[in-house]
Amino acid sequence: MRYNVLTTLIAMRQSQLFTKTRKSAPKDEVAKNAQLLIRAGYIHKEMAGVYAYLPLGLRTFNNIVQIIREEMSAIGGQELTLTALQSPALWQKSGRWDDDAVDVWFKTKLKDGAEVGLGVTHEEPLTALMTEYVSSYKDLPVYAYQFQTKFRNEMRAKSGIMRTREFVMKDLYSFSRDEAEFRTFYEKCAEAYKKIFIRVGIGAQTFRTFASGGSFSKFSDEFQTIAEAGEDTIYIHRGKGIAVNKEVYTDEVLAELGIKREELEEAKTVEVGNIFPLGTRFSELLGLTYKDEEGREKPVVMGSYGIGPGRLMGTIAEVLGDEKGLVWPKEVAPFPVHLISISGGNADVVKEADRIYDLLLENGIEALYDDRDARAGEKFANSELIGIPTRFVVSEKTMAQGSVEAVNRADGAATLVPESGIIEYLARKE
Ligand code: ATP
Ligand code: MG
Repeated sequence: MRYNVLTTLIAMRQSQLFTKTRKSAPKDEVAKNAQLLIRAGYIHKEMAGVYAYLPLGLRTFNNIVQIIREEMSAIGGQELTLTALQSPALWQKSGRWDDDAVDVWFKTKLKDGAEVGLGVTHEEPLTALMTEYVSSYKDLPVYAYQFQTKFRNEMRAKSGIMRTREFVMKDLYSFSRDEAEFRTFYEKCAEAYKKIFIRVGIGAQTFRTFASGGSFSKFSDEFQTIAEAGEDTIYIHRGKGIAVNKEVYTDEVLAELGIKREELEEAKTVEVGNIFPLGTRFSELLGLTYKDEEGREKPVVMGSYGIGPGRLMGTIAEVLGDEKGLVWPKEVAPFPVHLISISGGNADVVKEADRIYDLLLENGIEALYDDRDARAGEKFANSELIGIPTRFVVSEKTMAQGSVEAVNRADGAATLVPESGIIEYLARKE
């Protein structure tokens, strides 16, 4: 068996994939992203605002996670995992245990009656944890992040996987000596976010947006992607490539940013990520201090940086998907290649498609292989719904020409690729 040497690669014959594509989505599913993802077999709706990720969906989700991980580690982020179960004591110290302060808590009880909460965010536990490791200026700065499930009892849950009650968040927290050190990292992270949104294919539609800093600071920065289904309204300055959230769209703010109302374009958007100065609010309340070079005790200056990979996946589906189905960029797609055999009962075609499947795997290319005994039209429609960027078709017709047909999902462009040039063709498409 060849696959023994390729243990990390996934061989996926569609005849063995347990999910099937569906003609229609559940009636109560209004969001385009969830409709497409359910029909293509990526996700399963457990209840309103709660979704399971199926094999194709999980692969896509993990690809997004990996892109975020690479960019966070490139700016010095260290990955860890905190806990979902949270003790009230810590959150009472910061004043965020009360339902009046945070209105999306899921709270439950231990057997002995003691209350616990399911984490909505993780400033408190990480700040408290850092007090065990940070005491001197030499211990700073620190950048720590996780991909972890948050639970939020969201009022509105109509946006498919873009707003759910249980979702994974990448949350990074920065711990710096002073404001200047914090700002340098904050800008670095904003650049890393730009790279992430470009890599997942929505760079052109995504804008760094001035938003309210809430109770922590004057401004925060959101990354907002133009989409019909968006819940936010922003005003975009195309020339400068920045935007202003409606919530801070005032003459005063525009003057501060040096932009005029008539230069701005209104758009409906989805917040795919945000970065937030936290100042010393949490470090002061939870006792995270350090001794500077002169031995003076100072509070650590903090920031928080969130991205929801599930919301991001939903946004990509909304923005790039078309009337035929999903359209994934290569880095995000569950598989880079969808190999399809159209055999019409001809065993030679099956043999040739099998051979190409093996060839792809030998070259480290994971393919979804539609080896099912189904009509060409059905296979193509399924393939368009699933949205893998490159489709290779093997049929009697293509074999007669010593080729496979390559079709680009995004624009439908088709070319014949000689059998001997398949790997080179994919490499060129990089
Ligand atoms: P929103 O205003 O849309 O509710 P938020 O201000 O609550 O977002 P944060 O708490 O800062 O957002 O979360 C950081 C990131 O986590 C968001 O930018 C988004 O990508 C993601 N996120 C937030 N809430 C959800 C949710 N309910 N479902 C999926 N992803 C979410
Ligand atoms: Mg929210």
